[in-house]
Amino acid sequence: MKLIIIGAGPGGYETAVAAAKKGIEVTIISDGPVGGTCLNEGCIPTKSFCRNAEVLEDLAKGETFGLENLSYRFDFQKVLCRKNQVVEQLRQGVEFLLGGKGITLIHGKASFKDAKTVVVDGKEIAGDNIIIATGSYSASLPIPGADLADVITSKEILDIEEVPQRLCVIGAGVIGLEFASIFKSFGSDVKVVEFCKEILPRFDTDLAKRLKQALGKRGIEIETSAGVQSIEKTSAGLKVTYLKKEQTFEVIADKVLMAVGRRPSVNAVNLADVGIEFTPKGIVVDKDMQTNVPGIYAIGDVTGGYMLAHVATFQGMRALAAMTGEPCDVDLSIVPAAVFTNPEAACVGKTEDEMKAAGVPVKCLKSFFRANGKALSMDEPEGFVKLVVAGDGAEGYKPGQILGCHLFGAHSADIVQEIAALMNHQATLEEFKSIIHAHPTLGEVLSSAAHSA
Ligand code: NAD
Repeated sequence: MKLIIIGAGPGGYETAVAAAKKGIEVTIISDGPVGGTCLNEGCIPTKSFCRNAEVLEDLAKGETFGLENLSYRFDFQKVLCRKNQVVEQLRQGVEFLLGGKGITLIHGKASFKDAKTVVVDGKEIAGDNIIIATGSYSASLPIPGADLADVITSKEILDIEEVPQRLCVIGAGVIGLEFASIFKSFGSDVKVVEFCKEILPRFDTDLAKRLKQALGKRGIEIETSAGVQSIEKTSAGLKVTYLKKEQTFEVIADKVLMAVGRRPSVNAVNLADVGIEFTPKGIVVDKDMQTNVPGIYAIGDVTGGYMLAHVATFQGMRALAAMTGEPCDVDLSIVPAAVFTNPEAACVGKTEDEMKAAGVPVKCLKSFFRANGKALSMDEPEGFVKLVVAGDGAEGYKPGQILGCHLFGAHSADIVQEIAALMNHQATLEEFKSIIHAHPTLGEVLSSAAHSA
């Protein structure tokens, strides 16, 4: 079988490697550096920044750890350098993988000639199946001033020359909050302006409220229910005007980060020419990630939905299984996600609000990091966890089945994985309660919540 993959992000390149292992002849085409948004201008460089931010936060607590009269100089150029090295090392790793047996990597812009043929720089490539994995791009607001030079996206902020003294972040979604948290640690005065009434609109509201408080304690100002109207260059800096409860407010900043969502790159290839159905929200796919054109699949951000690297990868596995006729056990509805703020937040599965809205009775069990020995030893008392389990009479679920987990606190992104694993096996609260957790570990916050009933 010959497979063409358009896009070499975590959806495209992981699928290429997995397909080649099955003996499929793969051609992968990329018009940008391999690794896509995640590796080059998303998850990885951001996490490199996060680590620098974390070290600075620890140093700021120096006296707590017996470090008195500590003095240091923060060299932002070295932060950029380290970030670039991390990205480069991983990019070389991906290039190595794509140089493996059975894979041809082509740099260039792909377009469809017909439903079985793709053209790159005049060269025609034929495939039995084609996967579109063209990703997404940062959205902007249609407001005056959105195109000013100092109004930047999550891509440009990763290569910013110096730490802005005043940073205004538009949007308290995942990207907005991660950069708000990072640049606060780097020394900026940070103000976040969010349109919805709570931060992280798609997360558990209880979690969002508590995380907002925790970020507030660090001095990150977050204004919710506030719609940005315009940005203007003034002698004092960029003036961001927003409307809240019919009143107008202003923030003055040196840089403005536009973090109001991402849009699927549906215009990256000529989809309409081969009759592929799509909307501005993404390419339309079935449960196997196949488009309306047989043999053409789409995975990752370009399909809309969860815009997460790991989702793209597993959607690729689903598409691969569909084209080879092999079974696929991947449950694409159980998706752990993390927000790398300080403290971190993470979630998997259903929220309490979602289940209540659907009329499904649930029970919620909570615990707090401040009651966890390891968290206190680490001086990380801030955090909370909520487990959502099926309540009495929840139709379609086992009694006490674990339906979701929502938490914030140190290492939340790692802690949530356990619940994701258990949810994949439809584990119940009682089954979870019998699992021994090592002591003292942060993971015990989960068993504390489970035993709180
Ligand atoms: P998002 O959709 O998560 O958040 C955008 C926010 O902007 C929303 O809260 C929205 O209400 C707000 N907004 C919209 N218009 C506004 C206005 N006029 N004024 C003020 N606020 C406004 O989008 P994002 O944070 O840009 O992230 C994009 C995608 O990338 C998401 O799907 C996210 O999950 C993904 N991502 C994930 C990670 C991670 O997993 N750690 C990291 C970065 C990005």
